[in-house]
Amino acid sequence: MINVRRITSQYNFKTAKALGQNFLTDEFIMDAIVGGLQATKEDTVIEIGPGVGVLTGLAADQCGKLVAIELDDRLIPILHENLAGYFNVEIVHGDVLKTDLKQFAEKPVILGNLPYYITTPILMKFIEDKVLMKAAVFMVQKEVADKLTAAPGSSNYGVLAVIMQQFFNITYIVEAPPEAFMPAPKVTSQVVRLVPDEVRAASLKSGEDFIALVKKAFSQRRKTLANSMAGWKGMDKAAAAAWLSENGIDPQRRPESLSSEEFAKLSNSMFLI
Ligand code: SAM
Repeated sequence: MINVRRITSQYNFKTAKALGQNFLTDEFIMDAIVGGLQATKEDTVIEIGPGVGVLTGLAADQCGKLVAIELDDRLIPILHENLAGYFNVEIVHGDVLKTDLKQFAEKPVILGNLPYYITTPILMKFIEDKVLMKAAVFMVQKEVADKLTAAPGSSNYGVLAVIMQQFFNITYIVEAPPEAFMPAPKVTSQVVRLVPDEVRAASLKSGEDFIALVKKAFSQRRKTLANSMAGWKGMDKAAAAAWLSENGIDPQRRPESLSSEEFAKLSNSMFLI
């Protein structure tokens, strides 16, 4: 097994805070993440930010092919050396946000102890780029996990919850305390598993419209929907209120009270206008 402490000291590697480098050292959590992938020899796994490769080797043992995308050029030779025995691993030097993920497999399994400074852009990339996937297992900040799974009406409920819950079923796998990493982050982390909800995603007439509508609705969280939706698709406040009522939504409601199904219904009705 690849050992983070041994490798960082052998290569005199100093972790970069700006790149979100908190390397996982807890073997129980590594096993839980890799088990959560449920990958088979038929699957291609794409790993986001392999670091020194602690999860990479374990996941590569389970899947047909593994593509690991790492931004930090200092880690590329370390990864090549430490994963030399893994003939099914391809190491890609690049920024995951600028990488076309569709080029590697039709329906990959995605893995990542994510760099926390870009968690939301990474999650949104899968939806915006329409990347098909079998499932994803991510380590995220506990606070972000709670936003992903929040129910309508709760304080964590917002744009991220509505959008992600429309496209994925999200479950918790294991919590990771700061001591599970080197260096230890200030916050607790959570491993989550995302499985695409193809029926709900397909129920949208336009994913782009849905995302734009949800962002607009929450742009003024404390205002009523009649107020926050004014200006949307050229509607003034009165037209927005009428449109909401026609779709069974009280215009006086606030965005955090709407379920993602209700946002989807609104978005589909707008698409006809
Ligand atoms: N997977 C390793 C582990 O579990 O120990 C490292 C996880 S560390 C939290 C995040 C990794 O993502 C780092 O290796 C970092 O260099 C890399 N990274 C940061 N920004 C990236 C980006 N835009 N694209 C690809 N990798 C990135």
